Order: sequence, then C-alpha cells, then structure tokens
Amino acid sequence: MTTMTERLEFAARVERIAAYPAAGAYGEHAAAANLASNESPEPPIPAVLAAIEAALGTLNRYPDPSASQLRGRLAARYGVPAARIAVGNGSCDLLLAAGEALLEPGAELVYAWPSFSIYPHLAATSGARAVTVALDGDDRHDLDAIAAELTAATRLVIVCNPNNPTSTAIELDAIAALLEQIPPHIAVIVDEAYCEFNLLAGDPDASIALLARHPNLLLLRTFSKVYGLCGLRVGFALCGSERLKLALDQVRQPFAVNALALAAAFEALAHGDEVQRRVERTIARRIGLEAGLEELGVKVADSQANFVWTTLPGERDDGPIVEGLADRGVLVRAGSALGRQGALRVTCGTERENERFLGALRELLARPAGA
Ligand SMILES: *Cc1c(COP(=O)(O)O)cnc(C)c1O
Repeated sequence: MTTMTERLEFAARVERIAAYPAAGAYGEHAAAANLASNESPEPPIPAVLAAIEAALGTLNRYPDPSASQLRGRLAARYGVPAARIAVGNGSCDLLLAAGEALLEPGAELVYAWPSFSIYPHLAATSGARAVTVALDGDDRHDLDAIAAELTAATRLVIVCNPNNPTSTAIELDAIAALLEQIPPHIAVIVDEAYCEFNLLAGDPDASIALLARHPNLLLLRTFSKVYGLCGLRVGFALCGSERLKLALDQVRQPFAVNALALAAAFEALAHGDEVQRRVERTIARRIGLEAGLEELGVKVADSQANFVWTTLPGERDDGPIVEGLADRGVLVRAGSALGRQGALRVTCGTERENERFLGALRELLARPAGA
C-alpha cells in the first residue's frame, strides 16, 4: 500500500502551540517511583471509588451539563454562590477557557516565569502577547514587577500560588495588595492547585474573602492533587462574578465534565477530614525529603506544595541527572524543560520512593559531572 503525503493547511496557531512537556514512562514499565507529575502517591479515597462504581450503570446518559449537584456542594463548602462556580475537565480546561474568553490578538496576558507550563498555551492559542515576569531571588512571584507590566492591552494576569514548578508561595496580603492595583476590567486568575499544602496561609480558603471585593478575580482549584484524582480530570473555578463563570461556559462544550468525575468530586467533598490527614502526611514526607536533599548539599526552595524544587550543586546540567535517575527507576522533572537549567522538580512520594530518589541522587552527585 502506498502512503499519500499529507498536505493539510492548519491554522497559524497550531504552529505557535508548544508541545506540553509530558512526563516519561507512560506505556513503558511502571516506574519504581514516579515523582514527575505532582500526583498523590495515595490511591483515591475508598468512598470516592464506590461513588464512581455506583455511577457506572448510568453511563448511557449524558452527564448533567450544569453540574448542579457538584456546584451545589462546592457552594456549601466554600460559601460562594453556585452561580459563580464553574467546573471543568481538570482545572486546565478552565484555564484554557479563560484564555479563549478573554484573549485575542492585540491583547496581553501577564504571568511569572518559570510557572505552570500550560500558561504559554493561552497566548499561543489566542494570538495574544504573553508578558513573562522573572521570579525574585527566592524563586517567588515578584508582584511589584507584575504590576509594572500592566498596559492598556492587558486582559489577564495569572498568579500561581503556590507556584509550580518552584513550590514557593506568597502571602495572601501581597496578593490582596496586587488586586487593589489592578483595574477592574483586567481578569486575575490565582491558580491555587496546591493551596492545601501551603503552611504560610493559616487557612487555605482565606483567599475566598477576596472574591467579594474583586468581581474580576477567579480562584482556580482542582481535585487532581490533594484529592488524588488526577486521572479523572475535574477542577473548579470560584469566580468573583457570574459573568466570568458564564463566559467560561460559553466557550466550552456543554458536557465538559464526565459523569464519573462529577460523582467522584461530589463524594470527595464529604471527606474533608481524610483530605486533611493526607495533607499532613504529605507535609511530613516533604520535610523528610527536604532534609535529605539539604544533607546532599542541594539547594531547596521553600516548598509550600506537594513537591520540591532543587538547584543542583556546581552548576551541573539537569539532563544527565534526570536520565541517571530514570535508569534507576526514579522519574522527576528536569528544570530545563520547565524554564530553569540545573534544577529538578521532585514530587513528594511515599517515604520509600523519596528514599529511593535520595539514594539514586547521592550516587549520581558523587560522580564528576560528565562522567
Ligand atoms: C497540577 C496543576 C493544575 C491542575 O491541573 P488539572 O487540570 O486540574 O489536573 C493546575 N495548576 C497548576 C499550577 C498545577 O500544577
């Protein structure tokens, strides 16, 4: 059979969209320790799995397009009216929807860098201009520098708190002060995918009070990380105004969130105590991981998330270290793929996984660079 040459004409934006830096090992042998994607090492809560099973028998039906039960429970949990809560096929779905609803050629969006690898897609898909702002010397958001980049063309500002990939957080007061400086026609997304792990914030939900003062604010949350439901794809946005929520829905397909995800997220919200215990276990393992890294002479950023960000000693290349770790069954992310050469992003796994990582890194650092 002869193969025809493909001659399709694609939209110009397809050229602009970079491939997402996917973690390795999918489809290969299961890694001994997958510390590359900030997932929970713990399986989903058993009652959540039971809720998914109970929903299987009605998969011949479409899911509720308004996700009314889940939005009702989120409203009760967070004290935000359901009319201002959007749910998405993962919070990335809501991020991309915000880009589609707010951006177009001639518009600008502002975010820190390095930050979450999806943010560049918002400019690439819309044709808007991305203005990136360097982190400060402690790898934290520099909010003054972000405020200084606002122009007449700015439509959207994204603040990732705690920041992926650097794990650092900024105080809520600083975010509140930034919001005071941002005119009300500019939307602000605070991406709080890891807020539950942030010990700087006494209460991870304290940011919700800001919604009352700022109709242009969107707090982005997810069931992926702390609830251990990455594989199911469900996230939500708490919005300062109904209009913002409606715009996120307008640009997406009506059945964006599948029935199993809706059932699972609804059930997950009834298990706050278990979630809190998971947070505490994660933070305990994070402290162990940080201590182990410091022993190896590796600089570690002040983590407020379920992962750590380390700078390798002696300006070593991250590439050979990441490969060496993979050869030893430990998957982590290379800083160079996330905006910073010579760094590693390592998810807090189980204690065993963390030890395995530390042992392998010790071995690799003991060798001269390039050997
Ligand atoms: C993991 C992560 C998300 C969550 O993405 P989902 O689509 O909800 O799985 C959002 N923002 C950041 C910064 C993340 O690291």
